[in-house]
Amino acid sequence: MSTFDGLVAVVTGGASGIGLATAHAFAAAGARVAVLDLNPEGLAPSLTGIRADVTDHDSLEAAMAEVVERLGGLDILVNNAGISAIGTVEELPDTEWTRVLDVNVTGMARASAAALPHLRRSAHPAIVNLCSIGALNGLPRRALYNASKGAVLALTYAMATDHIAEGIRVNAVSPGTVFTPFVENFLQKFDDPESERAALDARQATGRMVTPEEVAGAILYLASPDSGSTTGTALEVDGGVTHL
Ligand code: NAD
Repeated sequence: MSTFDGLVAVVTGGASGIGLATAHAFAAAGARVAVLDLNPEGLAPSLTGIRADVTDHDSLEAAMAEVVERLGGLDILVNNAGISAIGTVEELPDTEWTRVLDVNVTGMARASAAALPHLRRSAHPAIVNLCSIGALNGLPRRALYNASKGAVLALTYAMATDHIAEGIRVNAVSPGTVFTPFVENFLQKFDDPESERAALDARQATGRMVTPEEVAGAILYLASPDSGSTTGTALEVDGGVTHL
C-alpha cells in the first residue's frame, strides 16, 4: 500500500477502540494524525489529541483549524465517533433518538462540513465513514443504532455524489462485531463473560470477532491513493456474517 508520508489524517472518536487502532495505523504508515475526541487524554506521543465534540459545530470548526495549524494541512477525515443504544422502538424514548442520531448522523455531517474547506486544498482528499452491518441486517434490539447506521450509508452515497467533482472520495466501512472496550465492558455484565465471548466468537462465520486492526486496515485502504477509483462504497469487515 502507498505510504501516507506527508499526509494528515483526522480521526473523530479516535481515543478508543476502532478509532484508536486506526489512528495508530495511520501513524505507522507515515501520516501525521490528529485524534478528535471528548476525552483525548493519554494518547501516544505519535498522536495529536484535540478535544472536540461532534455534536458541537463551533468545537469542530475550531478543532479542524487547529489540526491545520499544528499539523500543516488536512487530507483524510475518518468519521468514527459513534454511540449505541439498546432497545426496540417501544423501549427507546424520544430523548435517546435525539441523542444518538445527533452523534452518529448529524455529527458525521457536521465534522465533514467543518473539514471540507481544508480537504479541498489537499492533493489526496478522502473521507471514510464508520457504518455497521446493522445498516443491512436487523441486529436484535438495536432499532435506533441500526437506523442511524442506515442513515450513515445514505449519507456516504450522498456525499460521494456531491463531492467527487472536486476530487474528494467518500466511502464507508461496515464492521460486524469488533472486539473493542465497548464489547469487553458489555461482556462483563454477564455472570460468565468468557462463555459469552466464546458464543460471540462462534456466531462469526470466521469463528472469531473482528479485530480493531482489521477495520483500521480497511479504512487505510479506502483513504489511500491505491483506492483512487473507489467512491460511494461500503466495505464490509464482518467475519462473513452478512452474506455467508
Ligand atoms: P468506542 O466506544 O470504543 O469509541 C468511541 C469513541 O468516540 C470514544 O473515544 C468516545 O469518547 C468518542 N465519542 C463519543 N461521543 C463523541 C462525541 N460527541 N464527540 C467526539 N467523540 C465522541 O467505540 P468503537 O466500538 O471503537 O466504535 C467506533 C465506531 O465504529 C462507531 O461509529 C461504531 O458505531 C462503529 N462500529 C463499532 C462496532 C463494534 O463492534 N465495536 C461495529 C460496527 C460499527
